[in-house]
Amino acid sequence: MASPEDVDRYLIETLIGDDPALTAALAASDAAGLPSIAVSPPQGKLLYLLARSSGARRVLEVGTLGGYSTIWLARAVGEAGRVVTLEYSRDHAEVALANIDRAGLGERVEVIVGAALDTLPGLVGGTPFDLVFLDADKENNPEYLRWALRLTRPGSLIVVDNVIRRGRLLDDQADAAATAGRATIELLAAQPQLDATVLQTVGAKGWDGLAVAVVTD
Ligand code: SAM
Repeated sequence: MASPEDVDRYLIETLIGDDPALTAALAASDAAGLPSIAVSPPQGKLLYLLARSSGARRVLEVGTLGGYSTIWLARAVGEAGRVVTLEYSRDHAEVALANIDRAGLGERVEVIVGAALDTLPGLVGGTPFDLVFLDADKENNPEYLRWALRLTRPGSLIVVDNVIRRGRLLDDQADAAATAGRATIELLAAQPQLDATVLQTVGAKGWDGLAVAVVTD
């Protein structure tokens, strides 16, 4: 029987195919010693499709790494669109900027270096974001979600990666990242201005889950 990894390979071959800019971004990230924790190609394409189908022109990402998901999102916003992406590590940000430039998307992307909880307040007062993707230190996801609510408008999408953590979110002895996954889901449920669901995911990245919420008002 095929494994989730086999199926991921099949899906990538069938629905995504050869994508030199994304392949180069992953290769350069590996060569620079960045961890292999970018979203998978099908997940990147899901982000792209969510942004494209919702007509997103302004996207906020928290957690850039080597810019793999940033490239998907920057493609979706079109020439007049903009992606602001927040990254703690200056080294990761430099690799990301090179990858994004090589993909021909440098004009659309701003990488802001620093701890996101320090840099998010600087975004208050700007044009609201149409889509926010949370994919940095999972422990802070509940706090990032509160920031996302401040920085969006009714109709905006908020996507949060890694909220299931191989099911550890339901363990009483869960680590901080898994506990935060559960807290994030419960915050999504408790906020009256959010309508959300979570899709459990399998594949090359193992068992996890992606939350998707729309800001209702
Ligand atoms: N979104 C990327 C992708 O799919 O290509 C992957 C992001 S990776 C899972 C998480 C990134 O968040 C790492 O590059 C890490 O340095 C960054 N990070 C960790 N803590 C952070 C913080 N407090 N503020 C901003 N970025 C942070």
